[in-house]
Amino acid sequence: MTTSTLSRDQALTAAVEQASANYARRNPASHAQHERALQVMPGGNTRSVLFYAPFPLAMRRGEDCRLWDADGHEYTDFLAEFTAGLYGHSHPLIRAAVQAALENGINLTGHNLLESQLARLVCDRFPSIAQLRFTNSGTEANLMAIAVAKAFTQRGKVLVFKGAYHGGVLTFAGGPSPVNVPHDFLIGRYNDTAGALALIRQHAGDLAAVLVEPMQGAGGCIPATPAFLEALRQATAEAGALLIFDEVMTSRLGPHGRQGQLGLTPDLTTLGKYIGGGMSFGAFGGRADVMALFDPRRAGALAHAGTFNNNVLTMSAGIAGLRDIYTPDAALALNALGDGLRERLNAVCRSQGVDLQFTGLGSLMNLQATARAIDHIGDTQNSDGTELRIKDLFFFHMLEAGVYVARRGFTVLSLPIRASHIDQYVQAFEAFVQRYRDLFGTA
Ligand code: PMP
Repeated sequence: MTTSTLSRDQALTAAVEQASANYARRNPASHAQHERALQVMPGGNTRSVLFYAPFPLAMRRGEDCRLWDADGHEYTDFLAEFTAGLYGHSHPLIRAAVQAALENGINLTGHNLLESQLARLVCDRFPSIAQLRFTNSGTEANLMAIAVAKAFTQRGKVLVFKGAYHGGVLTFAGGPSPVNVPHDFLIGRYNDTAGALALIRQHAGDLAAVLVEPMQGAGGCIPATPAFLEALRQATAEAGALLIFDEVMTSRLGPHGRQGQLGLTPDLTTLGKYIGGGMSFGAFGGRADVMALFDPRRAGALAHAGTFNNNVLTMSAGIAGLRDIYTPDAALALNALGDGLRERLNAVCRSQGVDLQFTGLGSLMNLQATARAIDHIGDTQNSDGTELRIKDLFFFHMLEAGVYVARRGFTVLSLPIRASHIDQYVQAFEAFVQRYRDLFGTA
């Protein structure tokens, strides 16, 4: 390390410490809330992604795309429940749908009048989904999709990609996670077509499925190239393995999901997040011959249970959302707004000559602490290990500017976001670049 990089490294660490101390001073009520939570939950936390040092913000209230924390600070919400909050915090049609479900009683303990309506809307929106089943989370949807792929093909291996996040028990960001389910996973490199094809061909006789996000979300909003996904489509078909698109995050990117934008037809698709109208939700579906394995009228049908799979609050809110709010036109408009934001932010990076960029598609994006092209998660890491601290600085800076983003720099547009909020974000980012420009690499 040269003296100048050493001092930049030290200055970066000092800046993060300063920002963290300012944050702690500004947020005594969140701190107190964390202290109470520590007594009853490990680390005061029940959802790992929400924790960060020195203590996480506690949110008190939300309205449209605004949030208020325990200390009364107001934020524009550019995280939107990690994409599940597409409709904002108080959409009148979602509220009315939940209220209507409440009027008819919760926990009806039977098939209800709503579940097939939501299923119809989902099947109509994603033509590759002939039939589907509901779950309570995207994690469960992926667990069930893998299970049915193994049963259908009578094979055991599943190809996934480094950097993928398919749920709390299906994470592939670092090494194998000790809480992952113990399937026989092969782990390829994202966007490495030749490598993936070699793995598929090598394991063709044993391969049940390839599970892939059309854009890695938690991995840092890294889009798959169309050629990579097309190659997976063709190679899985040749190998007799199923192609599963995890569209839990990406289904919002176009009127028919990312698959519709690319004109690709996976065998199975998993969904989650906003499709339940902001209530807990997941779904998996696809080819009728595969999904038929769950048909309880069949001898030896696969079981798929879940007390809350068809809960009326989710079903009712989901119907209102897909039918009345997130129409094809609304999907196009929101994602165009996101493309515009990302272009403006990247223009700032270029004109300021800093080693930063925003990757992503449409309404989803992530800050990266490098200007190099990013094809897979390894490309997001700097050789000098500065990327996490730069993202820390960004996070604290944006909070001070009243913009709520994820600690990792993940940024999500929801439907209440307007041009004025986009301007607020761009101005806050410009100020961030000005404030800390000496700490970034120069592009
Ligand atoms: N797949 C992807 C691509 C996701 O982004 C997520 C959640 N972030 C999941 C699966 C898991 O969904 P859930 O949190 O509802 O279990």
